[in-house]
Amino acid sequence: MSKPAGARCNLACEYCYYLEKSKMYAQQPSQTMSDELLERFIRDYIAAQPSQYVVFSWHGGETLLRSEAFYRRVIELQRKYGADRTIENSVQTNGTLLTDAWCEFFRENGWLVGISIDGPKQYHDRYRLHRDGSGTFDDVMRGVELLVKHNVEWNALAVVNRANGDDPIGFYEFFRSIGCRYLQFTPVVERIEHHADGRWLASAADRSSALADFSVTPEQWGRFLCRLFDRWVVEDVGRIFVQMFDATLANWVGEAPGMCTLSKICGHAGALEFNGDLYACDHFVFPEYRLGNILQTPIGELMRSRTQTEFGDAKLRSLPGQCRRCRYRFACNGECPRNRFVSTREGEPGLNYLCKGYYKFFDHVAPYMDFMRNELAHRRPPSNVMEWARRRTAAKR
Ligand code: SF4
Ligand code: SF4
Repeated sequence: MSKPAGARCNLACEYCYYLEKSKMYAQQPSQTMSDELLERFIRDYIAAQPSQYVVFSWHGGETLLRSEAFYRRVIELQRKYGADRTIENSVQTNGTLLTDAWCEFFRENGWLVGISIDGPKQYHDRYRLHRDGSGTFDDVMRGVELLVKHNVEWNALAVVNRANGDDPIGFYEFFRSIGCRYLQFTPVVERIEHHADGRWLASAADRSSALADFSVTPEQWGRFLCRLFDRWVVEDVGRIFVQMFDATLANWVGEAPGMCTLSKICGHAGALEFNGDLYACDHFVFPEYRLGNILQTPIGELMRSRTQTEFGDAKLRSLPGQCRRCRYRFACNGECPRNRFVSTREGEPGLNYLCKGYYKFFDHVAPYMDFMRNELAHRRPPSNVMEWARRRTAAKR
């Protein structure tokens, strides 16, 4: 994930895990990726890919604080260094700065646009705010309408938090109503730890920090996933792609889940800051997880370094006994290490804070996942599960 505008953003969302990263670079106020760095990054990143297929992920901060000219230069450099490769780009944005011109650019160049939106207005505007404290929902929806108008490929990235976590059906119906076919959502879990430079969020290395009050609770998360799944599984399988459910099915059939949090090991997605500093992961942008700078060491070398390999392997190696014995370990893999700050039933540290929610979800969906696995094994579409699920629900009544 590269950050061409660093952590800078035109908004001030209350739960943002990235906004405060600019405090780590207070000495470099412009926080803008230079042309020299961009070229080095694109050249070395393409060269480091083992396959023909190369994906660039532009992230923020707010990516659209950079001009269209910047992204045109990206394409020029990708052509220069990756002429023999298939290159794709995705860009994550809060959606408020989208214009007709941006949408034309994305459509013409086949870029995938990820929009951060947390569901209906009453939930979205709880935490996703302008700097003056007003809600951003109306501006984001204006952006979504532009994407639809220009036929841009887009997906929604929502966070599940304390405010929207009790209304999975309202949340899901909202995304259906705006024509969203690709839905990703991620649980918000943050802890508070005040740092000398003004940052206030804890890293995985901070041990006993208090939970931030916007964090989803494990019980909420479990209920949210189960109820949303129940809604999806009777009508929308193969029609609306919910990343969490696709990844769960992938693990069920022994394929790569495509979601680092549910993978056995991680460490394949570093975060590149505007000045070339590379970090182990987008959620580990803390001084203690800095791998180096790509102007001094090629990005491929840093990503294959012992430090990074150990970081990725630690996801599996550091699983507590409760996870190792868990019947759903193959599906959960202890989720993200950054959330492993509670203790197991036996008092062993390192259990995932969301464990209860995940366990409830995997236990709930197991019969459906078994059914879909069987359909796939017999070369039938997994969407057959919808009819089966409807009959199952009717029989229960
Ligand atoms: S640390 Fe967490 S978010 Fe980062 S790559 Fe690993 S599982 Fe994914
Ligand atoms: S459900 Fe809980 S115990 Fe099982 S693997 Fe996940 S975090 Fe570990």
